[in-house]
This record gives sequence, structure tokens and C-alpha cells, in this order.
Amino acid sequence: MQKISASAPAEKTVGGPQLAEELRIQSEKCIECKLCRKECHFLRKYGSPKHIADTFDPASPQSQMMPFECSLCQLCAAVCPVKINPAAMFLEMRREAVNRGAQDFSDYGVIMNYEKRGTSRRYSYYGLPESCDTVLFPGCTLPGTRPDKVKALFEHLQQTIPSLGIVLDCCTKPSHDLGREKHFQAMFSEMKDYLLQHRVKNVLVACPNCYRVFKQYGERLQVKTVYEHLATTSLPRTANIAGAVTVHDPCGTRNEEQIHAVIRRLATEKSLTIQEMKHHGVRSICCGEGGSVGCVNPDFSKGWGIRRKGEADGVRILTYCAGCANFLGRLNPTSHILDLLFEPEATLAGTVKISKAPWTYLNRLRLKSYFKKHINAAATRERTFTGEEQSRGLMLKRMVILLALVAVIVAVRMSGATQYLEQEKLRALIAGYGALAPVIYMLSYAVAPSLFLPGLPLTIVGGILFGPLWGVVYTIISATVGACVAFLISRYIGRDWIESKLRSSRWKKLDEMVENHGWKAVAFTRVIPLFPFNLLNYAFGLTRVKFLHYALATFVCMLPACIAYIVFSSSLLNVLRGQITPEFLIGIALIIGVSVMPAVYKKIKARRAGR
Ligand code: SF4
Ligand code: SF4
Ligand code: SF4
Repeated sequence: MQKISASAPAEKTVGGPQLAEELRIQSEKCIECKLCRKECHFLRKYGSPKHIADTFDPASPQSQMMPFECSLCQLCAAVCPVKINPAAMFLEMRREAVNRGAQDFSDYGVIMNYEKRGTSRRYSYYGLPESCDTVLFPGCTLPGTRPDKVKALFEHLQQTIPSLGIVLDCCTKPSHDLGREKHFQAMFSEMKDYLLQHRVKNVLVACPNCYRVFKQYGERLQVKTVYEHLATTSLPRTANIAGAVTVHDPCGTRNEEQIHAVIRRLATEKSLTIQEMKHHGVRSICCGEGGSVGCVNPDFSKGWGIRRKGEADGVRILTYCAGCANFLGRLNPTSHILDLLFEPEATLAGTVKISKAPWTYLNRLRLKSYFKKHINAAATRERTFTGEEQSRGLMLKRMVILLALVAVIVAVRMSGATQYLEQEKLRALIAGYGALAPVIYMLSYAVAPSLFLPGLPLTIVGGILFGPLWGVVYTIISATVGACVAFLISRYIGRDWIESKLRSSRWKKLDEMVENHGWKAVAFTRVIPLFPFNLLNYAFGLTRVKFLHYALATFVCMLPACIAYIVFSSSLLNVLRGQITPEFLIGIALIIGVSVMPAVYKKIKARRAGR
């Protein structure tokens, strides 16, 4: 079993030692036979693993984004005649990009929220009866989509394991695959340590990805799928049924041939016949969900699924991963093996009830209450651990900002400088310069976005110097002019240069948004800051949005944030002098209102897309 090592130092030429080793292996051993490229559109796009290893530059944005388009499915390793594993190199490349701070995960909001919720206090539950040495770990998707099956499975397993415990939690595989190694390590180790401390020895999983995580990192925890356990004990007493299915083996257990065999045995024991697809067992193909590729390259993700549908050729797919069942179920009749074992007739008739979001979340909460009531647990917990490093880092950052603010206020007051901070005196001084002061201010603001200078300090200066009314007027006009200048540079002067800077999938998404929604895409991205403001101005210049639409939408939609920050900063000097004014409080309330909008948006989006 592999123990996760500490993260690699970020500034080495070829990245950390594990990445360097993977690059060396691909470079020295890959004979460029093209067998993997025949199977994989990602490799057809980027070249042979040797070529990728030889040309990899950990500091270049292209090299940093590229591995996130690989599904990490390991089909390349399965077909490779020299037995190397390119997927291991792509995972190390992802980790390297994360360690260098090159991946901000803004494309992965849905999947990260999904994982965060799975590990949260609200959704997680550990119930361990007296002398419990075995737990059922059903994962996240199965309890959400099929809570009744999880209950039925648990009750059935209790017949052979009376002291069976339950763990409702997420194995954090999404973080693992996204290269968030430190977070994954912190989360998984904490769960593993808790289980080991409570004398749990065996983990029965229903999800192949959970299987892989526990097998690779679980150390003394023995992992087995519930399907293997059922095959060696007893099956639920349900009817046998004639019919044909084809089995989709998930990538997570690609190399576990005993599991492939067990699934087929269970299906045939229910009297089904199996028609194998071209790719199955160790040579199975990804359903399309692997590596969260759909978040950055939806075409690659769809491509895998469509290929699967083609190979199934209309026959019902039987799989043992609830994630794969969801994904493939949109393309082809697909069932989970637990559907078959507990409801065989309904499974073949395609009438099994599969919940969708937002009911999946409700199901998980209900399932948690069910287990809380039905297990006579000697030890219980809800998970409060959130990944120490993240929260500590965030907390530290907040503390530093707060301390800096307090230090400035104390220093200003102690130095006697408050006499110079009288708002009215300062504004009278500025008024003495006539039109010159606003003109200089507006000109500075108008060039700042093109030079990638942050607008917030200028906005704060505007509020202090010109007050809430004229501050807003000057700032919104000049900020709009600034955004338009960058837009026009991009559209008419520096197109090639800007294009070379904006190659990542995020910017392609912006293009798609404009194609589909026109000026509304501008309005939306001004209100919800999904992209960095200064780059966004340039990026819109590359799209087909009309200049007038862009300018108007920018003006109108930047107004709320402009008002919030100007009202807030117009009273900042008073605050430094120890006076809390109504403007300050209104400003704070407005800033909070503007700041929570992205979070609200993400929440709504996650709920809609959730499983
Ligand atoms: S892991 Fe899968 S997607 Fe990635 S290179 Fe290998 S075959 Fe292609
Ligand atoms: S199958 Fe193996 S040897 Fe052939 S190109 Fe792919 S990685 Fe290289
Ligand atoms: S592998 Fe299973 S438990 Fe882990 S994140 Fe995916 S669905 Fe959740």
C-alpha cells in the first residue's frame, strides 16, 4: 500500500521528485507504439506519453492545464506493451500544477462542493456498534440516488455481520484526482485514523473508486466490495429473471479481475446472460466522468460516454458504480448491480426509482437519521474535521488582515495624524484643484485595467476624495472607460498576444457563454466574478459580443459593487479617527451583499447540477 508523501517543493525545474520519476519513466520506456493513442482522444490531441514527458514544462500554463483533460482512467496502461502507466504521470502533473498555485479550481465548483458536503458535519455519520470491526462505506452517490438500496443492503449484510457499523462520508477521491494532495491526505488520514482507533479492521465499499482509495491508502484497513462479500455469503431472496445485459467495469477497479468475475457471477446467478462489450475488464473504458474532465473539456467527457453507448449497442448496461450508472444512464439504459439484486424485475423493466438532485441531498439526510435511529451504536460521530491546512491557512490570512487593520488605526491615532484625516478638510483641498483632481483620477482609472493594475485601491481613493455621490459618478464612468479600452485593444490591436494568454478551457467557456447568451454573458460575469476582472476585459474583446452591448452591460452591472465600495470608503477616514458613521455601516452591508452573490450563485448551481 502506498503512503502519500509530503508535497514536492514547487520550484524545481521538472517539479517534485515523484513527477521527475514519472517523466523519466515515460521518456525512457515509452516506445511510441501508438497503441494507447488509438484508444484515447486525449493522447491523440497531445501526443505520445514520451513526447508529452519530453516537452513538459512545469512553469508553462499549457503544460499546467493539459493533464486536467486526462480522465486518469489508466486504459493507456492496460494496453501498453512495455507496461508503463502514463496516467500516473498525469496525476503527478496535476499535483505539480496545484503545488505551484496554477490551478484555482474555479472550473470544479460543483464537484468540490459535492465532496465538501459529503464530508460535512451535516451529511456525515459514523455509527459503530459494540465490538464492531467491519463497516459499510456506501460512498456519496449511492446513498443519494438509491437510499432504499443502502438500507436494504445494510440489513442484509447484518445477517452475516451482526456488529456491522456504518460510515456515511466521502473518501475524497475528487480531491485526490484533482491533485489536491495535501487536502486529500489530511481528510483521508483523519478518517482512517478514527476507524483504526475504534478497532475497525474491515471496510465494505459499494463504490469502485472508494475501493481504490482504501486499497491504496488505507494501510491496515482491509477493503472489500460488498459484491465480493455477497457472492461468498448469501444473496437477497429475489426472483431470477431472464434477459441480457452488458457489464461496464468502472476504471476505479480496472485491475481487480476478481471483482469483474464476481459481478458477472452475480448477474448470471440472477439468470441473466452477459454480452461483453469490446472494452471490458482490465481494458474497460471510462464512462466519461473520470478525472472530472467534463469540467474542463466536456467534449472529451462526452466522447467517452458516446463510445460506451456505441459498444453497448442498445443492450442494458449493468455497472457497480453509482456515478457511472448516473453518467451512462443519460445515454443508454443502465442499471446498478444493487438494483438488480434487490429489484430484478423492475431493473430489467427500467422502472427502478433513481433519485435526482435536489432529492439526492434530502435522501442522504434521511438516510443519516435512519441509521442514527436503527443502529445501536457504542461510538458515533459527525465529521467536523475540514482539512486542517485549508482552514488554518484561511484563518491565518484573515487574522493577518484584521491585525493589519487594527495596527493602522492604532498607529494613526497614536501618531496624532488624525488631524490630517479630516474628511471635509481633505475634500476642500481637492476641490481647490477644480476639474483637475477628477480628471487625473478618471484618467488613472481609465488606463489601470489595461495595465492589469487592481481597481480596488483606486475605488477606495475615489470614495475618500470625492465622497459617496461624486465618487460613484467618477468611478463608474472611468471604470467603464477602462474596461472598454482593454476590450478595444484586444479586439483591434493585440489579438494574437491576448489569444496566446487565454488558452485555458475557462476562456473557451466564456466564448461559449457569449455565443449562447450574448450581452447577458457580460452582465453575468460582471455581477458574478467567475473570471479575473482585468483579463475578462481583454477576453471579451476576442468574443463576438457587440461593443455597445459590452459597454452598457459593464456600466450597469458594475454599478452595485461600485456603489458599495465607494459608500464604504467615503467614511474610511472617519473610521480611522474612531468614528463609526452610518455610511460606513451601509457600505459594509452593501459589500457583504455584493460579496455573497457568487457564493449564492455557486450554491444554486451546485444544487441544480448535484447528484
Ligand atoms: S488515463 Fe485514460 S485519458 Fe488519460 S491518457 Fe490514459 S487512456 Fe487517456
Ligand atoms: S502504449 Fe505504451 S509504449 Fe505505446 S505509446 Fe503508449 S505509453 Fe508508449
Ligand atoms: S468515490 Fe464514492 S465516496 Fe468517493 S467521492 Fe466518489 S462517490 Fe463519493
